[in-house]
Amino acid sequence: MRTKIEEQRPGNDSGADDSADSGRRGFIKTAVVAAAGAGAVGLLKPSPAEAASDPAKKRYGDGPYAAEGVALYSSAGPHKVMKFQRRALGPKDVAIQLHYCGVCHSDIHHGREHWRKENFPLITGHELAGVVVAVGSSVSKFKPGSRVGVGCMVNSCRHCGPCEAGMEQYCENGNVFTYASKDRDGSMTQGGYSTFNVVDEDFVIDVPDVIGLADAGPMMCAGITVYSPLRRWSVGPGRKVGVVGLGGLGHMAVKIAAAMGAEVTVLTTSSAKVEDARRFGAKTVIVNEPGADLSKFKRSLDFILDTAPYRHDLERIIPLLKLDATLCMVGAGKIVEPHQIGPFSLLRNRNAFASSQIGGIRETQELVGFCALHGIRPTITKISREKIDDAWTKVVDKAARYRFVIDLAAA
Ligand code: NAP
Ligand code: ZN
Repeated sequence: MRTKIEEQRPGNDSGADDSADSGRRGFIKTAVVAAAGAGAVGLLKPSPAEAASDPAKKRYGDGPYAAEGVALYSSAGPHKVMKFQRRALGPKDVAIQLHYCGVCHSDIHHGREHWRKENFPLITGHELAGVVVAVGSSVSKFKPGSRVGVGCMVNSCRHCGPCEAGMEQYCENGNVFTYASKDRDGSMTQGGYSTFNVVDEDFVIDVPDVIGLADAGPMMCAGITVYSPLRRWSVGPGRKVGVVGLGGLGHMAVKIAAAMGAEVTVLTTSSAKVEDARRFGAKTVIVNEPGADLSKFKRSLDFILDTAPYRHDLERIIPLLKLDATLCMVGAGKIVEPHQIGPFSLLRNRNAFASSQIGGIRETQELVGFCALHGIRPTITKISREKIDDAWTKVVDKAARYRFVIDLAAA
């Protein structure tokens, strides 16, 4: 049940901007899908003797585990170091030494209370990547040394319709998010801007060796959040796809949609990003500045994925849809500033306005396999955790190129 990827050279954690793109263009690769369910992890349960003699387990034990993160103590910030404990291993838990965590705009929405009141102190971060150091007694998919990622969810009810269909993000009984969410024991979850986490193995993603851990982080949220709707709306060869906003999600959407065979058009508000958009795989780039004339692009797109946060003018974007085409909004703005769509905007071309939330665990594993197969990596900038406030400012200013990733080893 493992997707085996062979490439000319191994992945690394360098995170250099050009490695991502040269990877997509230059690698020669073959993928051997050993069984259905590409990307699913194999059975890796250590023998009792292995488990007993495992040095990592001896070193880390069964917890609770000391952890250290950067937390907000109010919505005004700044982040400050917080020492805390992760829970002791349950039978199905894995303990993960975190190496990297991507910085998502959702972290900022939570931290700044754009969506709701939050409980502080709050450690955000839901693009986790690291190495398993200890496993509970019933864990079957991972062992100490496994390279893994964790995204936006760490639990769900497991038995409702969406959960059974592998769409835990739509759990009818409420899933447990990686941070700012009530955990099974009633405590609030704390996220990945930290050194350690303990997570049920069913919510842990296997990271193949060809993907560096720094690159794996942003796949866990940015990658899956765009992959899921691109699949849902059947993006592929012969389809023209618009991507609004060239940020963390948007740049992954361009790379993934291009790899799916679609013709990609980017709508950016930043003229400085035009060349990057083309390098990531866009055929057409529209600089959507106030007053720009978009009329020549009317009815040109089969699907639009809008990743821009905050309220923006959808009346300029919707006319670009062909008859019956859908605009899927994954960006999420301030709760007090909802989007507006006029009464005639959608009816002219029988268009649909839709949305989508991250992706399921199986689907995330599939996305990781897709990225491995197609040489897709996020374009990242590594930062130390001391730079997190500065990084948040740059993200809001549209100055990230294109995902900040916290190097937790530097903590
Ligand atoms: P990001 O890295 O900041 O990228 C967003 C991009 O949108 C910016 O680079 C910019 O691109 C454009 N943009 C920013 N502010 C804008 C504004 N006021 N008006 C118009 N365009 C603007 O953010 P991200 O991490 O990709 O996240 C994007 C959004 O998706 C956030 O709202 C986040 O909370 C949401 N999100 C949703 C899900 C989900 O499950 N649906 C999951 C993750 C994230 P240009 O410079 O190219 O214009
Ligand atoms: Zn996110």
